[in-house]
Amino acid sequence: MNKKHTPTVAFHTLGCKVNQHDTAIMAALFQDSGYAVVDFHEVADVYVVNTCTVTHLSDRKSRQMLRRAAGENPEAIVVACGCYAQTAAKELEGLDEVDLIIGTNERHRVVEAVEQFAKDHQRQIYLPEKNDLFYYENLPHERVSGMTRAYVKIQEGCNQFCTYCIIPYARGPLRSRSEDDTIEEINGLVAAGYKEVILTGIHIGAYGRGLKDETCDLTGLCRRILDETAIARLRIGSLEGVEVTDDLIEMIATNPRMARQLHLPLQSGCDQTLAAMRRPYDTAAFREMVAAIRARVPDIAITTDIMVGFPGETDEDFQASLAFADEMAFSDMHIFKYSQRDGTPAATMPNQVDPRIKDARAKEMAAVAARNKIAYEEALIGRRVRLLLEEPLGDGRWVGHSSNYLYVTVTGEGLSSGRFVDAVLTGRQEGRLQGELINSDEEE
Ligand code: SF4
Repeated sequence: MNKKHTPTVAFHTLGCKVNQHDTAIMAALFQDSGYAVVDFHEVADVYVVNTCTVTHLSDRKSRQMLRRAAGENPEAIVVACGCYAQTAAKELEGLDEVDLIIGTNERHRVVEAVEQFAKDHQRQIYLPEKNDLFYYENLPHERVSGMTRAYVKIQEGCNQFCTYCIIPYARGPLRSRSEDDTIEEINGLVAAGYKEVILTGIHIGAYGRGLKDETCDLTGLCRRILDETAIARLRIGSLEGVEVTDDLIEMIATNPRMARQLHLPLQSGCDQTLAAMRRPYDTAAFREMVAAIRARVPDIAITTDIMVGFPGETDEDFQASLAFADEMAFSDMHIFKYSQRDGTPAATMPNQVDPRIKDARAKEMAAVAARNKIAYEEALIGRRVRLLLEEPLGDGRWVGHSSNYLYVTVTGEGLSSGRFVDAVLTGRQEGRLQGELINSDEEE
């Protein structure tokens, strides 16, 4: 008797944490429908590429992965979803390898779309009607157990329209997920053994916008999560500096379950460039905000995103940006080279910067980033930190991360993933912090 074939699905995700979250949820949708999730390099019945369009490179990589999927199994159903699918559906229609195109608010229909295609082999495009972009697409939120950290999406879309950014066009206007639904998901994650959640979204500082209860905001949501769930550690994803409130700083300063880390995109350290980007602050305001946070939470990790090569950025502008980034002494920096995005104001600005100059500026900025990261870590040597263990390195060595996002290697007996241990930072080896265990039998 031939054993019933269990359909298989494989995923490849490009881009941000929000995309990773959306993929995790789509995987759960397929599993709920009896599919087995396999690795992208294996032969699968269905391939889903969750695309990104933040740079022209991510467009190219998205197309590459879609072709690779069809190459892995020519009989398979190939699905393009996410931001590139949303903004360039016409282009993707030109790719023979792609069977289904699903936009950024229709992911909940992915299994239904695949099963319809399996029946009629009709290529379909599922793009939300303009108005449909105004509701928050509530995806179910079962998660695979056995993990320690989970991204929890609380918000979608953005209304800020920074001049270089394609995201508002790909993900639509601001909309938020209800507090109750968020808390229900986190309680489910705690029950499944997760120890840390990272609140994520496109513009989480604007959380609450679009909810009936206009009083909802990010600080209020964090307070409810700390009060109504037993999550051991709550981390906040990328946040616009201008949306950091005194209450939020106070919560981070006083509640040990709040991660002592904030990711605050600066984008440029030059006021002319910030104005041309239409960023809602200047360097003086950013400096003041960082000083206020550090005054209240001295050892907090402040990380950032910074762009080089924005149209019109002169050598002087860049040197000003470099000097300001150095002055801010971020504990880590993500460096991006400006990428022209069709449909954004910056794409048609004069004085586009030569790619070789962008490369050179990115290198200079990376040197500042590396120096300040080491300086931040070395200043904490001798300190006691609480680590959430995640990954075994072999020979009793484990790596875990602290509240202020330090990745630290410790060695000990009977350690396991998802366990909190206390350690003293002893130094850096092979580019990573080392710690000596203080006690390893404490189970959170
Ligand atoms: S805040 Fe600016 S950079 Fe961030 S998603 Fe919105 S438009 Fe893009």
